[in-house]
Amino acid sequence: MSNIYSWQKEIWQTLTRNFATQQRCHALLLKGHQGIGKFDFSRYFAKSLLCDHAKEDIQACGTCQSCHWFEQGAHPNFYQVVPEALSEVVSEDTDRAGAEETAGNSKSKKKASQQISVGQIRNLTDFVYMSGHQSGYKIVLIYPSEAMNKAAANALLKKLEEPPEQVLFILVTHHPQHLPPTIRSRCQQITMPAPDVKTSLDWLVQQAVKDPQSCLTAAGLAPLTALQFNDSELFAQHEQFIQQISSPMQLNPISLALTMQQVDLSTLVSWLQKWCYDLVSYAVCGKVRYYHDQQAMIESLAANINTHACITYVRTLYTHQRLSQHPLNPRLFLEEIFLSYIQLVNEKAI
Ligand SMILES: [Zn+2]
Repeated sequence: MSNIYSWQKEIWQTLTRNFATQQRCHALLLKGHQGIGKFDFSRYFAKSLLCDHAKEDIQACGTCQSCHWFEQGAHPNFYQVVPEALSEVVSEDTDRAGAEETAGNSKSKKKASQQISVGQIRNLTDFVYMSGHQSGYKIVLIYPSEAMNKAAANALLKKLEEPPEQVLFILVTHHPQHLPPTIRSRCQQITMPAPDVKTSLDWLVQQAVKDPQSCLTAAGLAPLTALQFNDSELFAQHEQFIQQISSPMQLNPISLALTMQQVDLSTLVSWLQKWCYDLVSYAVCGKVRYYHDQQAMIESLAANINTHACITYVRTLYTHQRLSQHPLNPRLFLEEIFLSYIQLVNEKAI
């Protein structure tokens, strides 16, 4: 990635303008849906702040020594903290596009930690408190910040409470509500924009995605996630999943849990969340948000659900989304949520 995404131009201008004119800011919190390019944006922002010859709107020149160091992952004034499971995915020579949603989708990363540990935050101490290369900013990027466990968050809080000179923390999060309020309140919070459907589709066409509409639907309208679906096994698994849950009378939770065990749990839960969101949305206001191509099926299922129970179920799925990072038994975890789903959609039909 050499630039920001088209839907981020406005927020870029606002942020850089504020940054140039306001008092020094020590911590930024970039928040927004997963798969909309927050990570790429934050890295480009860091690269631009560190650039020796930044252009007028603080965009990195791409040619100076600082920009080269940054691209090679060797900038002495930049420190990136990600969970072990993400560390290879977002390694410095990776094509940045699409990095956001890849966490957990890789089978080889199953055993790597999804958390940011207290050790990783403590390791920042030297970087943060020692004098940096030349003058200017030292930047710490923490992604996704909600992956910090409690001890890690406390360790970071201490650093935010006594912010060192010339250090900027950039926290990037999909779920700001999972961060302690004490951390949130010490950051300048920036809501990152999500592109509308047309912008996303145009972008996916530019990326040569074969079936942009289906990929975007499967990705819950997040374009960078949609890119991951292009021509992938995950796309086929999503199709299979939707086919099964749209026929709840034939659905067997045990066999579905077995079939889907190759898919990352968090990803599965997010599919189910969006499907159930559409059921509620259709029942309440006759509209679907994600699964337009399944509207007829959603309509018939929505006629048979208890809307309140479905809203409760969607809320429960948010809790499951957190638990999905470390379930005791993944198969049982899935069977339980599928069983609840079957009861929900068959409630009036039985
Ligand atoms: Zn430069």
